[in-house]
Amino acid sequence: MMSMRSATGSIARSALRPGAARPLAGAASSGKRFGSSRNIIEEMKKGYPIIGDGGFVFELEKRGFVKAGPWTPESTVEYPGAVKQLHYEYARAGADVMQTFTFYASEDKLKNRGNEAAAKYGAKKINEAACDLAKDVAGEFGGLCAGGICQTPIYLSTRDEQQVKAMLGAQCEVFMENNVDFMIAEYFEHAEEAKWAVETVQKLMPNEVVAVNMCIGPEGDMHGMPTAECAKVLAGTGAQIIGVNCHFGPNETLEACYQMKRGLEQIGLDITKDVFLMAQPVIYHTPDAGPQGFIDLPEFPFGLEPRVATRWEIQNWARASYDMGMRYIGGCCGFLPYHIRAIAEELEVERGVKAPGSEKHEKWGKGLEMHTKPWVRARANKEHWSNLRPSSGRPYSGAMSKSDQWGVTAGHEGLTQQADRFESMADEAMAAAKQARV
Ligand code: ZN
Repeated sequence: MMSMRSATGSIARSALRPGAARPLAGAASSGKRFGSSRNIIEEMKKGYPIIGDGGFVFELEKRGFVKAGPWTPESTVEYPGAVKQLHYEYARAGADVMQTFTFYASEDKLKNRGNEAAAKYGAKKINEAACDLAKDVAGEFGGLCAGGICQTPIYLSTRDEQQVKAMLGAQCEVFMENNVDFMIAEYFEHAEEAKWAVETVQKLMPNEVVAVNMCIGPEGDMHGMPTAECAKVLAGTGAQIIGVNCHFGPNETLEACYQMKRGLEQIGLDITKDVFLMAQPVIYHTPDAGPQGFIDLPEFPFGLEPRVATRWEIQNWARASYDMGMRYIGGCCGFLPYHIRAIAEELEVERGVKAPGSEKHEKWGKGLEMHTKPWVRARANKEHWSNLRPSSGRPYSGAMSKSDQWGVTAGHEGLTQQADRFESMADEAMAAAKQARV
């Protein structure tokens, strides 16, 4: 069965990547039971950008397969077809990486605040199902399958290194059994927890490449550590890829990454060969967000639509990111397959391959030359789309919102892990504190 899957992967890759300039290094020598023959580090060293996928929780929530609030991924067991379909769409759009849909799939989160996912399915089953789905699609498209772990509620409840590592380690065991191509540890608000996550992966999967991302912006982590300093901590773990995901929009994330690059340069690291920089922002513009990013905005999570970046904005962002030296570029919450396709199209020359999904999309609106209306045909050019300033169409819409400005999370009672969903003293205290600031 395994050899059949591998064979399918090779056929699909050669079919989808005609004349690919990208050398697929380390083909027969990887020795993996399953797994891609591609070498992610070698590709980035040669200047080929790795394209990540987009956010699963947000899109699957909109499609009716994830509940907003807990945001946990039990749909890998409940609706595997829906999860696989989204993987397929991202792969077709040009994503090199299929990340297992295991965001918040640690046992503590699956039973946090009334969540029944842990009791119903258990973390192991949810993580295993996610591996099957991501591996299938990665195999079909010649991509890479990445296991994913993220922040745990018990970190803030206990700040206990052993407990956090045991929680994340249980997930890593599933990824190890499934022989994923590399690991992504992401969505950490505190450099300390990010470091523990990397150490967990390194201990259990010592030969695995690990990428580590914090969900921070230009203002640093939730302990007040500046972004450039966070980069030094992340690089100090020995993780080969470091960066930022979620919470902030493309522009703010670019600024955060620039600070990370500066921090790494201060300790003599070059982001195009020593350690690689990665960014997976939210699709929403967040110039008005506080240190916690878009979750502090009153529009989070159900009224964010007017902030969605256009495909053209994402193309410009992808170019700026690549030119700054970033070699792993993808998306998080709100990113859709067409945004990923925009990254793939902007970097098509650097990648040496055309995304399968570009079959139905011509660059910079050129397809509009086939439109019946002459004034629409006139928009079939880069000048029109790269200079566009889209309107919201809402007469009372403002450019900015007033952010909740929750700047510090470390040790706050209202943020600790608890099994009961109902109002606790901590919830009441938090509500009162918020009321006092209005
Ligand atoms: Zn996100």
